[in-house]
Amino acid sequence: MLDPNSTRDVGPRVGAPLWGYLASTTAAGFALLGVSLFNFGLDRLQELAAKPLIWVILCMVIIGELRPIVRSRMPSDDGVPTSLPFGFALLISYGLPVAGLVQAIATAIAGVARGYSTHRTVFNLAQYTLSFGAANAVLLLASGAAPWVPHGPELLIVMLSGATYFVSNLVLVECAVAMHERVPLHLAFGKDLGQRLFVNGVLFSLAPLVVVAMNHSVWLVPLFSLPLVALYTSATLSAKREYQANHDELTGLANRKLLILRTQEALSEAQQRKQRVGLLLLDLDRFKEVNDTLGHPTGDRLLQTVARRLAHSVRPGDLVARLGGDEFAVLLPQVRDAASAREVAARLRVSLAEPVRLDGMDFDLEVSVGIALYPNHAPDFELLMQRADIAMYVAKERRTGVELYAPHKDRNSTARLSLFGELRRALAEGELEMFYQPKVSLDDHRAVGLEALVRWRHPKRGILPPEEFVPLAEQSYLMRSFTHEVMESTLPRISHWWSEGHRLPVAVNLSARELLDPTLPEIVAAGLSRHGVPPEALRLEISERVMVAEADAVTPIILTLSDLGVSLSLDDFGTGYFTLARIKGLPVEEIKIDESFVRRSVDDPDGRVIVESAVDLVGTLGMRAVAEGVETAGVAEAMHAMGCYAAQGRFFAPPLEAAEVVDWLLKNGGLDHSSGERTTSA
Ligand code: C2E
Ligand code: MG
Ligand code: MG
Repeated sequence: MLDPNSTRDVGPRVGAPLWGYLASTTAAGFALLGVSLFNFGLDRLQELAAKPLIWVILCMVIIGELRPIVRSRMPSDDGVPTSLPFGFALLISYGLPVAGLVQAIATAIAGVARGYSTHRTVFNLAQYTLSFGAANAVLLLASGAAPWVPHGPELLIVMLSGATYFVSNLVLVECAVAMHERVPLHLAFGKDLGQRLFVNGVLFSLAPLVVVAMNHSVWLVPLFSLPLVALYTSATLSAKREYQANHDELTGLANRKLLILRTQEALSEAQQRKQRVGLLLLDLDRFKEVNDTLGHPTGDRLLQTVARRLAHSVRPGDLVARLGGDEFAVLLPQVRDAASAREVAARLRVSLAEPVRLDGMDFDLEVSVGIALYPNHAPDFELLMQRADIAMYVAKERRTGVELYAPHKDRNSTARLSLFGELRRALAEGELEMFYQPKVSLDDHRAVGLEALVRWRHPKRGILPPEEFVPLAEQSYLMRSFTHEVMESTLPRISHWWSEGHRLPVAVNLSARELLDPTLPEIVAAGLSRHGVPPEALRLEISERVMVAEADAVTPIILTLSDLGVSLSLDDFGTGYFTLARIKGLPVEEIKIDESFVRRSVDDPDGRVIVESAVDLVGTLGMRAVAEGVETAGVAEAMHAMGCYAAQGRFFAPPLEAAEVVDWLLKNGGLDHSSGERTTSA
């Protein structure tokens, strides 16, 4: 199974402690094998080679080496080979030279078949020889010379010998792992010890039975493959399930669940040893463009490339995770200081710097990285994540690439940054609330619609207007949950009002970032059907600024949205340099004339001419004009005279809390309405 986090096969630097350890162990193992074979003698080996039994066992050992029982948590691990009962049976029957030689042949074959590097294979070979050597010493001490058929109480000696094999093998391997992954020895030993003991125990218990079978008939030996296949299959299945639960399907990287688990382990370890833990959050810049222009399959391949590159740029023991979309995290369970964390971040950025070639095109990837450290910035995973988030957001905003979380950098942005963290929480805890502003016909002053306007009921700062937090959401990955929140609080209201007979279209505003999200039509369609809202009850407002900046990118999404049956309106008209002719062909029903434009048209005669001709053109194009920000009766009349069919503004009604809407409609709105009193501004 693909595991980009597996860096265990990268050879150690010559002269490094790990290199020294591997080299000396390997040399010792080979020396032991050589000496024991020499003592055994070629004649006896040739004699044995004539026996079919040896060949049958060799086959079983090779198959067993190729089918190890993997430990569930580390699929990249060697696991416990199912060759153990046969290799150990050979040791019991013929001693170290034969068992060692057969095992060495099988290890070499398995190493080649599984694509292991040479240094890994020769180390494995030596490690087996040394472990068999230790087990053999116990047998020799207890009983003299092989061959030896166990029966009765002598089984105890076999058990002792098996235990010796287990311990020596564990020590030899885990010392290497501990050096490689820079974890303390006791941690390496302790990992899954119970499961390892169990699997090894089961396999060792078969060895004496294999010996008995060997003494009876060679044909009995292969029968042992049946229980081993059963054991192997069930272990593999459960390892696979656990792997799937902890890894991202697309990239094979760790998922959020595994990241949380490993971070928590790292934090408790760091707490005891007074060390630092680093959490890096990475977000690809402009990944959307690839997804949007070349489609998801290409985007997926790009993500896989990114995953591979990231996984190869970290040290063994570090964890790369994908959190979803184009967001990745890297856990550094041990990091010396902020400078080292920055170095890792720089290395990760360099790894992505080389363009990725897909479908014959080169893509330049850039990534923004936010760093937070334990214990400097946060005491737990949640906060660490939040701080790394904030740092990443600063990196994106300032285009610096890498930022370390720093609460004191500058006061202004600190307030904003902490607001960003709070917004995350607010979204999770439902602190956003929709207000609704009526839109009124200028002919008869009846309500013709409502506009949903988001507010944040901040626990300390009171009600915050959208400009304080929508841009924050827009510049971060929070946008999707923001859209979701807005839809999920507006649609049930619409459904309720329509079922009570207040059948007015309700408009929801969409920002550029929302319109650039290819999943937006799905979110809208799913919301409509979930809440039983007819599409004509929903209107979507798209700001003119978006049309000026992103017309080409958003047009396909606008068309898909209109296919759903929802109507569209062009918001804030007059704030950009949008020419209405460009709207031709787009299914826009209504143009909302921005409040600034409305004001100007009343104050200055030139403005009046411009607005008048714009409203004219709107009519010619088959759309209707709505005046925004109408604050006085005079403005309402003027806009009516210029040809606007409806208006919105405090002169008619301020944005209302949802609970006030029906009352307002009954008093002033969609029902019988006299042209006398108005609800005036708040
Ligand atoms: P907008 O869509 O143009 O909304 C109209 C704005 O005019 C609202 O500001 C409204 O409160 C304000 N307004 C109402 N009556 C008057 C008046 O008589 N005079 C003046 N000068 N203004 C009036 P608000 O609620 O602060 O929203 C500001 C902008 O934030 C909205 O402009 C819209 O672009 C954005 N926004 C609001 N809610 C959402 C949302 O749920 N999602 C997104 N993406 N953007 C939103
Ligand atoms: Mg609007
Ligand atoms: Mg507007």
